[in-house]
Amino acid sequence: MQEIRIEMTKNPKQKPAPGTALGFGKIFTDHMFIMNYDEGQGWHDARIVPYGPIPLDPAAMCLHYGQEVFEGLKAYRTPEGKISLFRPDRNMARLNNSNERLCIPKIDEAFAVEATKKLVEIDQDWIPTEEGTSLYIRPFIFATDPMVGVHPAHHLLFVIILSPVGAYYPEGLNPVKIYVEKNYVRAVRGGLGFAKTAANYAASLKAQQEAEDEKYTQVLWLDGVERKYVEEVGTMNVFFVIGDEIVTPALQGSILPGVTRMSAVEMLKSWGLKVSERRISIDEIAQAYKDGKLTEAFGTGTAAVISPIGELKWGDVKMIINNGEIGELSQKLYDNLTGIQFGKLEDPYGWTVKF
Ligand SMILES: *Cc1c(COP(=O)(O)O)cnc(C)c1O
Repeated sequence: MQEIRIEMTKNPKQKPAPGTALGFGKIFTDHMFIMNYDEGQGWHDARIVPYGPIPLDPAAMCLHYGQEVFEGLKAYRTPEGKISLFRPDRNMARLNNSNERLCIPKIDEAFAVEATKKLVEIDQDWIPTEEGTSLYIRPFIFATDPMVGVHPAHHLLFVIILSPVGAYYPEGLNPVKIYVEKNYVRAVRGGLGFAKTAANYAASLKAQQEAEDEKYTQVLWLDGVERKYVEEVGTMNVFFVIGDEIVTPALQGSILPGVTRMSAVEMLKSWGLKVSERRISIDEIAQAYKDGKLTEAFGTGTAAVISPIGELKWGDVKMIINNGEIGELSQKLYDNLTGIQFGKLEDPYGWTVKF
């Protein structure tokens, strides 16, 4: 495995005082990981250096054509004082799937996990310890070739930065309000939907802004072709509890394969529950609601873990789910997933990496 050169900062920053409202992704730690890719040399010069600006040529290709991919995971402080990561191998495997789609040279997944551990270890005093807080880890790769011409890059940077975060939603675990997006689409099969890449978010900003203007938290995307089948929520995958079946849309190319989604499916199945990954139309959901069978809906993602949906609006139809309160299953999933992530519960699945 490659050596990682380490240069410690001479000017450590002031850490947020205990009890400070951290928000999400606003504060960054003292160090960052960087590695270069140059054609002919491959990935090289891995280093951990003081956090700071990265010089870029104004013609750098990432700025013009969006050749960029990213990941998101968290480090947690366990009650014994260890550091815990949740399924980092899944994140690095997904990073390579995104790389493949964006014509970015693959990284060594095991090395990327080691680099993440090393960086978190160096900045471990930045892991906040209040209930529900953690250290968000953002690995990302972008094209730096100074060339205004559309072509896959020959020069790239792989960077990892860290950010102490509070609860993702200001409302906390309170159910969120979501509406079904009718005007815009996020992704289509054959496009970029399954890749974690900036372009998907560029496509979603307008819808997000309009939702916030109407006091909704996020939108629920429908498929981009028939505008009929449910895909996912802004930054989360989505689940519906209908009668005795728990349904989440099948991964068919336009949906981001969430690590939290995968873990929720595995956990629910291990509890002997009926989980289906299948196509589900918005009509089916509205009908289930009418019939009184839609008992819970929730989103899954690293940032919020489980985010119950209290209201789902589809045109004039306003579905108030479980009286707008968190459902039993959503709560149980949240407690068990976060319990394992924070090292408060035993991890029978072998998902956590503790060091
Ligand atoms: C990252 C992401 C998710 C959630 O994935 P996790 O691995 O569970 O964090 C869901 N949808 C989109 C669009 C995402 O970018």
